Amino acid sequence: MSSAPTYSPGVMKYVEEARKLLAERDAALARMKAMRFDTIAVHGLYTVEEALKRNQGAVIEPLYLSASQAYADSDELEAALAYLVPTWCYTRIANPTTYYLEWVLALLEGYRAGRDTSCCVTASGMGAIMAATDPLLVKQKDGPERINFVSCVQVYGGTFQQFSQRKMKERGVECRWVRRPWDLEDWKSKIDEDTRFLYMEMPSNPQQSFADVKALADLAHSWGIPAIVDATCATPALLRPIAHGADIVVHSLTKSITSGGFAVGGALVSRKPITTKVRNDHPLFKESYAEYVKFLPYRDNGPASAPANAIFALNDLRTLRSKMDVVSRNCQKVAEWLQKHPRVYQVDYLGLPSYHLHGLAKRYMKLVDSGDGPDGEVNRYGHLMSFRVDGPPENARKVFDGFRMIFRATDLGRIKSVATIPAISTHQQQGEEARRMADVPPQLIRLCVGAEHPDDVIADLDQALGAL
Ligand SMILES: *Cc1c(COP(=O)(O)O)cnc(C)c1O
Repeated sequence: MSSAPTYSPGVMKYVEEARKLLAERDAALARMKAMRFDTIAVHGLYTVEEALKRNQGAVIEPLYLSASQAYADSDELEAALAYLVPTWCYTRIANPTTYYLEWVLALLEGYRAGRDTSCCVTASGMGAIMAATDPLLVKQKDGPERINFVSCVQVYGGTFQQFSQRKMKERGVECRWVRRPWDLEDWKSKIDEDTRFLYMEMPSNPQQSFADVKALADLAHSWGIPAIVDATCATPALLRPIAHGADIVVHSLTKSITSGGFAVGGALVSRKPITTKVRNDHPLFKESYAEYVKFLPYRDNGPASAPANAIFALNDLRTLRSKMDVVSRNCQKVAEWLQKHPRVYQVDYLGLPSYHLHGLAKRYMKLVDSGDGPDGEVNRYGHLMSFRVDGPPENARKVFDGFRMIFRATDLGRIKSVATIPAISTHQQQGEEARRMADVPPQLIRLCVGAEHPDDVIADLDQALGAL
């Protein structure tokens, strides 16, 4: 055991000075927490004081491209590197631009959740999933030989690969797949003493799977483990899992959050504290998991976000709520139209009353702060949907190839409508059997509806389907 380090008076002078800044930031945080979702999305913790005192009055958060920060003397350097004062030191660990983005995301995910949250932004969504899950999968002294985690099988293709290849095959950590995540019994039958966490993607990409997140979080907590939710397709504008009891939320910022499509990024947001059985004597591990990740494993493993990507995310995020409202309404209209088309035999969209998980999704997928309007709080289901084209897989390819305005790309969450065939793209690597398990047949076209006028999207679909 090493004893706690002691610091010289010179170092402590910087710690003392930092108190003023910390108090100022705490006050800004308290003020912002009382504000509404749109206000947080627009401002975050980049206050007038922050602009005037530290950023030359810039109205918009500056992009700090510098890889590192300079210090006045050795005492300040020591204080900074011991994390005794707020600092950013080196962009792999922290960066001012990334810091502003992290706070917006922490505040939005924790909006009216009655819980404090922290956030760590990563280079990609996959990086966020790795950063969120790996520290929970460490082998414990005197622990069992084989540990496991339980995940819904309807996950993003990259997540499936990370879980089945990187974790299961390479590291011997068992991933137990739940095929019917909306059925709590399926989860219950897979959990045991050696389960480290439950993992759910909702709504899932592309299958539109969904779970009762509150019941799932309760189940996880009854086993002393955290519930992790990938809420990329919902964004905090439509679903905030922490408010329903989830411990950790992961996002691909690449998608609807950075709808303009200029950046790849990810985020891990955790509530304070998380539920876990993992023994880790670092005080932040349980109390502020995202910060723990940021200051330790993330520092050592290096999945930091590029500041330029962070500023793109921050900029697109300001109008998240109104954007998710528009694209969700557009998607609803397109899904309803497709459902009536004679060459389409199945449409999966949470917003369709005929969809088997509509009732469940209706309880959770609500446009934040929409209760102010005359109609009360409204349901919105996001802009991702899928449809299946009649006949052999060639028909789906023909329709797909016929799109004139809709882009063919393995992308989603865009301000522009984008479509893909998951069986030959995002879900290609996982093989036939896994695709069958996840219900991703080659007839399925995934469509993410953008902010164009929905009639024009429908017209494009109409001509493409008409060519069959
Ligand atoms: C795209 C995506 C990811 C991975 O994010 P990247 O930013 O591409 O690494 C994870 N989960 C979901 C639901 C996604 O759509």
